[in-house]
Amino acid sequence: MDFHISAEQRQMVASVRELAQSEFKPKAGRWMDGTFPWENMKQLASLGVLGMSVPEEFGGLGLPILDTALILEEIAKACYVTAMAVLGEAGVQTRVIARYAPAAIRERILPRVVSGDCMLAICMTEPHAGTDVANYRTNARIVGDRVILKGTKTLISRAPEAGVFIVFTRIDGKPGREGIGCVLLEAGTKGFEVTGTYHTMGGENLFEIQFNDCELPLENLVIKDDGFRKLLTAFNTQRCLNPSISLGLAEGAFDEAVNYVRERTVFGKPIADHQGIRWKLADMFKDIEAARGILYRACLTANPFPDPFMAAAAKVFCNEMSLRVTSEAVQLHGGFGFTDEYPVSRLYRGARYGTIGGGTSETLRDLMGRKIVADLDFDQGVLGLGTF
Ligand SMILES: Cc1cc2nc3c(=O)[nH]c(=O)nc-3n(C[C@H](O)[C@H](O)[C@H](O)COP(=O)(O)OP(=O)(O)OC[C@H]3O[C@@H](n4cnc5c(N)ncnc54)[C@H](O)[C@@H]3O)c2cc1C
Repeated sequence: MDFHISAEQRQMVASVRELAQSEFKPKAGRWMDGTFPWENMKQLASLGVLGMSVPEEFGGLGLPILDTALILEEIAKACYVTAMAVLGEAGVQTRVIARYAPAAIRERILPRVVSGDCMLAICMTEPHAGTDVANYRTNARIVGDRVILKGTKTLISRAPEAGVFIVFTRIDGKPGREGIGCVLLEAGTKGFEVTGTYHTMGGENLFEIQFNDCELPLENLVIKDDGFRKLLTAFNTQRCLNPSISLGLAEGAFDEAVNYVRERTVFGKPIADHQGIRWKLADMFKDIEAARGILYRACLTANPFPDPFMAAAAKVFCNEMSLRVTSEAVQLHGGFGFTDEYPVSRLYRGARYGTIGGGTSETLRDLMGRKIVADLDFDQGVLGLGTF
């Protein structure tokens, strides 16, 4: 299949690759204690990368999802923590603002995203409800021309660094999924507090935050009617970008493994000269390439958001492939693979995130299974599921 990757796209990806390999990879260990990689973000902003999902009219590059995925893949190969930080700027957050926020908010926030001066946080998960969105308790009460936001969110990335929080919330106490909408909250709003920190196995920190009757202008209620459907539709972007990080981590680990088995000798010859090892490399390679195919195809379904079924298939496959490949790369390094001496242990720990964030593998399999049972037409076979 032709993915239509132009010379210009290849040039952009090559610039990011050079920066990531020369600057981010050697420093990747620095961010494992939860320190936010500001210096990397500034370098990426100067290349225009932080504005890749921002429309051109606000100073961004307005790139299609496939280009964004290709760039995230390159960053993840070198540094998981930086890739996750960029996902915050390039993912669903930016697209929700660009598509649904009023003009004044777009004009105020999006140019600051491009320059790297405004990090974005997305706030969905609550202490008692992650996957179970219908059970959100956070509520945005509309009082005249104000919105009063109250609730707790947890496992939130970048909370201390973020300038803007995109908060999925119940609107006016309306129950169920139909009651979910979205408000924007800017850092410094009275009543907003970071109340807890969790350090993760990937290196980054996650945070608990509270909205204690935060008062917001009504224009910050960016999605009200039909909110849940709109948010889920936009969220399919995340389901293509999260797996692009998984793909990059697998490729990074594969490169490390090939390098190691060529150089390390056992029983008088390089590890790579043992047939069993070469078979492992072959399996890792075909796993990576199969994942690339399904992911790029899912990205190309975007109009403007990717097809939910293809995005789910790509996410589950890439996330699980990444766990297999990074784990095998650790294995090929023997005991040293388990230490911090080699990048593979970091890549492996980062890969663990994929199947959890942005829709768990269990939930996405369920989504896919329901569509297969409902829609598979035996005359057309899998092609009839609308994937081509
Ligand atoms: C590195 C990282 C960064 C994150 N960043 C953010 C962020 O910025 N913002 C944010 O809002 N959240 C963030 N999260 C949280 C993440 O989105 C949630 O962890 C995720 O949605 C799962 O929710 P949960 O943890 O409550 O798990 P639960 O929903 O409690 O699920 C626990 C287990 O039960 C399974 N399960 C749930 N429902 C079903 C079902 N119907 N059928 C079968 N199995 C089911 C799940 O698949 C999972 O295996 C982040 C998480 C990580 C690891």
